[in-house]
Formats: sequence, C-alpha cells, structure tokens
Amino acid sequence: MQCEELISYLSDYIDHNLDEALTKEAEEHLATCHNCRVVLNTTQKTLLLYRQHGQVTMKPVHREKMFQRLERAFLSKPENCD
Ligand SMILES: [Zn+2]
Repeated sequence: MQCEELISYLSDYIDHNLDEALTKEAEEHLATCHNCRVVLNTTQKTLLLYRQHGQVTMKPVHREKMFQRLERAFLSKPENCD
C-alpha cells in the first residue's frame, strides 16, 4: 500500500469500515511508515477533541473537510517514509 492509498482509506480505517484485507494492508503500512502514523494520530486526536466538546460524532461534512485538509497537507510534503 502507498501513502496516498492509506490516506484515502484512513477515515474508513478509523471507523473500522475497511474489509479484513485492506485493514491488514493499512496496518502493515502504518507499521513501517512514520508519516502515516503521525497523520493517523493527528486524525484520531481531532476526532477525540470533537467528542470531548460534546459532539458524539463529527458531522459528515466536517469529517470530509478535515480529511481533505489532511490529504492536501500530507500529499504536498515530499515523500519521506522510513
Ligand atoms: Zn505512508
């Protein structure tokens, strides 16, 4: 799996919506790619903050925007995987 794929699957990965094979691929990529682990942590922290502010779930439109921002920020950086 490439970083681009991981990022595009990240939302579903966090929600446990990926099938078994993709989850395994995502985990294998995360085990070897520092950048994607940082993105995953950041995303999970952001989701946690939303919950702490009393929103049980982030509105789909907000999630969509957050992931678009993350994807742009991530993909604009030079390739820097371990
Ligand atoms: Zn990666």
